[in-house]
This record gives sequence, structure tokens and C-alpha cells, in this order.
Amino acid sequence: MVDIAVVGAGTMGAGIAQSAALGGLSTVMLDVQENALARGRETMERDLERRVERGRLSEDERRGALDLVSTTTSLEACADAPLVVEAVIEDLEVKRRVFADLEAVVGGETVLATNTSSLSVAGIAAATERPERVVGMHFFNPVPAMCLVEIVSGPSTDPSAARRAEEVAERLGKTPIRVSDTPGFIVNRVARPFYLEALRLVEEGVEPGRIDAAIRGAGFRMGPLELADLIGHDVNLAVSESLFERYYYQPRFRPSHLQRSMVEAGLLGRKSGRGFYDYGAEKQEEVGEVAEHVALRVICCVVNEAYLALSEGVATAEDIDKAMKLGANYPRGPFEWAEEIGVQSILRMLDSLRDAYGEAYIAAPSLRAAGRSGA
Ligand code: NAD
Repeated sequence: MVDIAVVGAGTMGAGIAQSAALGGLSTVMLDVQENALARGRETMERDLERRVERGRLSEDERRGALDLVSTTTSLEACADAPLVVEAVIEDLEVKRRVFADLEAVVGGETVLATNTSSLSVAGIAAATERPERVVGMHFFNPVPAMCLVEIVSGPSTDPSAARRAEEVAERLGKTPIRVSDTPGFIVNRVARPFYLEALRLVEEGVEPGRIDAAIRGAGFRMGPLELADLIGHDVNLAVSESLFERYYYQPRFRPSHLQRSMVEAGLLGRKSGRGFYDYGAEKQEEVGEVAEHVALRVICCVVNEAYLALSEGVATAEDIDKAMKLGANYPRGPFEWAEEIGVQSILRMLDSLRDAYGEAYIAAPSLRAAGRSGA
């Protein structure tokens, strides 16, 4: 009898299995490839070893956690798990097949969770006979270090399945946040203007170094362009393209031509040696004067996206704030920024951008209402 099964032993699966074992759950990790299982286990061993070296874990706890994880290539090993978390590649057809196959081996009460970032829980659940037991458990990378889990309820998800997923996330020492099944959930959606607005500013001729410095000056750990360099522009662009498509081409999600041509040119960021910055250079270029309005513009767009998500019932304001701080390391949540900056100032910024550039900057109805009520 295992407490949890994790399907897929890649970056995310291995991290989820490790967190489960650290939470004291007996865990089976499954993959179609033996070498993926071996790699997953190695990653886990290295991370646990580092924790011991740093004094965060005792030797007994390390050994105890490793003893709780078994690996397999056989789906039957999931049969008696009350919760299965799927973390296979981001491909709808592959995931649908995994869910249909899982349903054939697990018990009637088993909750099936998906770690998808960009697909809908509804689309995956539709491959099963009992979509009410399917829920999203969206973990963040690196799983052992990141506290947030977005618990995603699709239109068919039974509240008891979401509750079960929430309880297990807590058992893993994570903070679960409820979110509805909408593209990008909270974090990937509300963080999108952080990158897109910065890219637009570069397209308008603002130096990347000035933008990053301004954002750091506002309290963020990293500016959006250096962060996109770190993530990889190919990965970052793929997220933008997916959201743009899934939001039916709403102009505020329009990906950046500049970023696309950087990807085409192989300027992927740190991993290719160059993106907005040259990582082979001895010394980074000096940054000109920092422009505070640049940070304000980016933050206003993030705040607007958060209000749009709120208007659409994606999550509560409090949960959106919490999710952005835990999942994206923001120094404040968007609603806390709104309070700090003032709703009227944000509306003024958005209205002047809308007058200059069009509908991508239309203020969220709930933000407009907050402006009217003086909240
Ligand atoms: P990955 O490529 O590192 O790992 C995927 C693993 O799934 C591989 O080991 C592969 O062998 C295995 N696999 C493929 N088909 C399988 C099947 N039918 N049965 C069992 N195993 C199978 O991918 P990842 O980065 O760990 O991402 C996994 C999921 O998590 C994706 O849905 C992704 O969108 C999501 N996610 C990723 C991140 C991230 O930053 N990497 C963050 C949040 C969510």
C-alpha cells in the first residue's frame, strides 16, 4: 500500500516524489523510461544530501525519505494509491492516455491529479469515466523549494477531490491555493504582463538594463528581462504563445516580435550565452539613469491582470496576492501594490496607455469599480 503515486519522473515528478517522502508519505514514482527513473532518483539523492550538508535535514531523515520512495515502470503499482499525481510531458494526448490507463487500474475512490501548467483540467478529465475525481495540482519548479501548489478545479471536479488534493499539499508542507480551471491559472497568467510589458518597453527603445534596474528598485529580486534570460526565451515565448491562443488572441497577451526574433537567432539567454545580456562578457554594460515610471507601468499591468482574474472568479484577491508572492517571489501581491500605489494612479496610467496603444490596456471592470467606490 502506498500513500501517493507520481507518474513521470522528470524535473517535476522527481521533485513531487521527494516532497511527498519528506512529508512522510510512502511514494511510488513511475516512468516509461528506466533511465528517467534513475535520473529522478539521483536528483532526489543529490538534493537530500545538500539538505543534510546545510543542516536542514538529519542523516536519519534523509535515509527515511529515500526509503519511502520506490520506482517502477508498471502502472499496476499505482493500483492502491489513494492519490495519483501525473507529471508526464505537457502533451494533451499523452496525458489523456495516461488518465484513461490509470482509471483502469486504480480504485473507485482514488483522486487523480494533473500537474499541467498550460492544458485544461477539463480536457484531461474528459478522457476518464469519472471526471469528478480529476483535479489540478500545479506545483512550481523546483518543487522541494517552492511552497505554492495551485489546486485547480475543473467544471466537473468534485469538491471532495479538491479537498483531498489540498490536504495532501499541506502534508507536503506546501500552501495550497484554490483556483478555477482557466488558462495560466493564477501565477502564469498574472505574471505574464511582467514580461510582456518589459518586452514592449524594449521595443519602444528603453534599454533592457534600465528596465531591470527599475524593477529591482521597486523591490523585485530580478528584473523581467534578466529573469527571461534565466528561464530561456524559448520557454518564456512558448508560455506567452500558449496563453495568447488560449485567451482567444486578446491583445494584452500578444507575444513579443522581438522575443521571437531573439529565439530564431538562438539568443536564448543564459543557456546559450546571450539574451538581453552577454554572459561571456567580462563586465556588464553600465546602466543609464533608472526610470521609475517604467517600473510603475509594468506593475500597473500586473495589477490590472490580477483584477481581471478576480473579475472572472479565478481566485480571491487574498489568494492571488499569496500566490504571486509564493509562486513568483513578488515582494508584494498585486492587490497590495494597488493599495500602495493607489487605484486612481493605476487607472490614470492604464487610461493613458490605452489612449496611446489601444485595447491591450483597458482597465479591468473591478479595478474601475474600485476607483469609483474610492476603495
Ligand atoms: P520532464 O520532461 O522533465 O519529465 C516528463 C517525464 O514524463 C519524463 O521522464 C518522461 O519519460 C515521462 N513520461 C512521458 N510519457 C509518460 C507516460 N506515458 N507515462 C509515464 N511517464 C511518462 O517534464 P517536467 O518539466 O517534469 O514537466 C512535467 C509536467 O509538469 C508537465 O505537464 C509540465 O507542464 C508541468 N510543469 C512543469 C514545470 C517546470 O518548470 N518544468 C512547472 C510546473 C508544471
